[in-house]
This record gives sequence, C-alpha cells and structure tokens, in this order.
Amino acid sequence: MASSVLRGLALLWLRVGLTNALSMRESDPTLQQHEADTSIEPTNQAEHDRTEQRTAYNRQRDVEDAGEFERNRQIYHTAGQLLSGSQSMRHSRHILQFIMSHPHAPVLPHGGCLYLPNDKVWASFYTHVEHPVPTLFGEMIANSYYPGCNETSVSGLRIPTSCGPDSMRGSRGCFNVTSLGSSTGVEVFETHGHLGLPDKWAYHITHATHRHVQRSTAGSTWGSKCGHELPKVPKAQWLEIPTRYVVCRKSDDADTITEEHVREQNRWANEAFEGNSPWKRMDFDGDHPPSADMQIRFALVNITIVTDPECAKVGFSNTRLIHKYNQNAADFFTVVIITDDRSGVLGQTEFPHELAEDDPEHMVVVSSVGFRGWASRHNGDMMYDEGDTVVHEAGHGFGLYHTFEGSCSGGNGDFVDDTVAESLPHYDCVRDSSCGGSGNDPVHNFMDYSPDTCMVGFTEGQKRRAWCELQNHRATLYQKSLKTW
Ligand SMILES: [Zn+2]
Repeated sequence: MASSVLRGLALLWLRVGLTNALSMRESDPTLQQHEADTSIEPTNQAEHDRTEQRTAYNRQRDVEDAGEFERNRQIYHTAGQLLSGSQSMRHSRHILQFIMSHPHAPVLPHGGCLYLPNDKVWASFYTHVEHPVPTLFGEMIANSYYPGCNETSVSGLRIPTSCGPDSMRGSRGCFNVTSLGSSTGVEVFETHGHLGLPDKWAYHITHATHRHVQRSTAGSTWGSKCGHELPKVPKAQWLEIPTRYVVCRKSDDADTITEEHVREQNRWANEAFEGNSPWKRMDFDGDHPPSADMQIRFALVNITIVTDPECAKVGFSNTRLIHKYNQNAADFFTVVIITDDRSGVLGQTEFPHELAEDDPEHMVVVSSVGFRGWASRHNGDMMYDEGDTVVHEAGHGFGLYHTFEGSCSGGNGDFVDDTVAESLPHYDCVRDSSCGGSGNDPVHNFMDYSPDTCMVGFTEGQKRRAWCELQNHRATLYQKSLKTW
C-alpha cells in the first residue's frame, strides 16, 4: 500500500510542469513531505538581464599563440586551486578541470571574477537535467566569468541585481554568493544558485514536462519491487528484447541518422550488454573493470524515420510529442533519436517501476549528438562517439540508477551493492574517491557520465537488478523476450 501511494505521487510529480509543481507543493502537505524526503530543491537560476545581444567569445581551439594558450590555462589552474580549498565545491572543480582541456573552453582574460555553484546546487541541477551535453560547460564558464569583476560576463550576460550584501537575485529568490579568495588576479565565488546556466539547460529546466528525479534516498525503493536482495540470473536464460528505433528529423532531406547508422548503434549496444565493450587501460587501473554479460540482447524489429521538426527539436522537454510513435509501449523497447536538440540533453529515460507497462513514456530518448558515429561524421565532440549513450539510457530503461545516485549517503544509493558510491558524476576518466572510501569511483561503469572510451561495463549487481525490474515491472516485455538454451 505504502509503495503504491509513493508510486502514485511519483507519477503525479512527473506529470506536472515545474511551475505547476511549485504551486502544488505549496498547497499539498503530502508533496511537501515527499520533497523533504528527497531533499530536492528546484534549481535557482540567476535572473540575468539577457536583453543585450550575447557576445561571441574566443575558445581555446581558436588560440594559435602558445604563450596565450599557456596564460589561459594558468587562469583555469589558479581558479581550480582556489576551488580545491572548499569541500562543497568538488563538482565545480571537476567541471573546470574537464573543460580546461576541451576545445570549447572559453579564453578568459587575465583578471576577473568567476562564479560557480556548490555541490548542493549541482545535485539539484541533476534532478532536472539527465545527462547534460558536457560541451555546454564551456558556455557555462563564459557566462560565469566577469573580466575585471565588472558587470558583463565573457559571453555578454549582465550580472544579476544584488539583493543586499553577498546575495543575488534568482528565479526562486535571492541566493548567497561567497568569495573563496583570490590569487594572481582571479577571484572565485561559491554561489548557492546557478549564475551561468547555458541557454539550452535554462530552457529545459523551465519547459520540461518530464523529470528524471533521484528516488533512492532514505532507503525507499520508490515503488520498485527490487530492493537490495536480488536473485541470481539463471545461466541458461537470456532476454532477446524486441527493440524499435524512431528517428525524428527536422526535414525530409535531413539524413544525419540513417537506417544503417541505427543498425550499427544497435550492434554496439549488444556488444556492450554482452560485456565486450573495449577497455582502454588507465594508469590507475588494476584488474579489468567489471563487465558482466547481462544476458540481454536487443532484437531490432523496426526502424522508423519520421519528419517531425517539433519532435526533432524539443522532444526531450516535451515528451508527449513523441507518444504517437510509441504505441503498444508494453510490447517493445523503444529508442527515439532527437536530431535537432534544443534542450542540451544527451539522453533521458524513465524507470520501469515508475510507470504502468503500457505507458508511452517507456522509451529511451537520445540525442543524435550521442549516437554512435555521429560526432566523427559531423566533426563533433568525440567524447560520446562510440555509442554508449544508448547503452547508459537502456540501463535506466531496465531500472538501473546512476552510480552517483544518493551521493555518498549510505553508500548504496543505486540499489546495487557492488558499485562504489560516488558523490557526483564524472566527465573525465580519472581516479577519484569522492566519498572518501578505499575504492575508486566507478568511472568505468556505464551508469556514470564518463566519456565513451572510459565506459567499460555493468556489474553483476546491476545485471540482477535489470532482470528483476524487467520481470516485475515490464512483465509483458519480459515474457516476450525470455529465451532458454
Ligand atoms: Zn543517466
């Protein structure tokens, strides 16, 4: 009974737009309780004066002079050092380190103020934006750096109005801004709201009708019948899942994803689920990272390419636009590809236990930017070129949480006991122990956000959870897929 009530609440929560959600929470004591349980706070975005035209800024890839390149890196280094003194700024520091090696990193003039959010703000952000496109962190830094500590950022944003000392005006009220110190002309500030949110994410957070919300805190399974005790998967069985792909393109001649590309992506996903994703050994690696054979295969049964500019553009933010392509949702595993994304999201998927079996929200939605081979064909960011975004999202579609779910609390927020807990996602393939334990953060796991070349496999626990979720919450699909040797 309790779990069905929670599930109902979770569904209700998903069904309402953010604005509605805010007013409902104020009037409904049960929802207040729900939010208190999960410690989710809506992202507070700085209210910028965005009326002026944005300024084009130089990116690291445009810098030819070695001295200028080195000066720019030094500014990033200095900012990183100032961040390293604060335990609540770990994720902003990770992002700064990630972006400083990226071609899209903005060139920062010597002398300025940099405003970055603390880890609590990031945790809130990740409840609104599943799998953000990390290239946009470059835009975020450009929005957050104010040369000469003046009023205008590198990208032309005007700093928000002050609400008094050390405080700025945001969409959900004033938030604090605290100086972490300055060094060689750079002053870094910790912000309790988002000062430099890129336009695409701001759009998504404001318009999304769908949210991918942390659900596993406080020991609750949030309606899932699969808790910590998970049965073994029988060796003699496997699941051959009827899988269909829908490509939403913006015009009849937009052919960035063809049927051939879909078949190649599906082949790659099958390799990954078999435990055969390649491993590029890092200097911190010991044994081969876990890479279980999930005993799950995607049987490609249909590819549909539709011309639907709305779906192609805002499918992530308004998933209802895609429902018409996901009829008979209980019988298929559906992957929808968004090819003209407005929302800055790489992929987004519902968990089986959150919806009725025939709910058309049961689908994996991915951006073409994260589709296998897209970046290499379009001179894009190679970080997600292999095709692991579909693998990661399919993991969610089988009930798997992120490895950073629930952060460090309890060490088992993803309901799998053989993944090391980590505080927040990783965009670099680095050694880290973000929760302070003895094990390395699971950057090689498909359910982190690391680059495709870093992602290697799923664990035995994740395999058991995926089978349990499918068996209990997608029973029709499970029965259709189950095979025995
Ligand atoms: Zn995810």
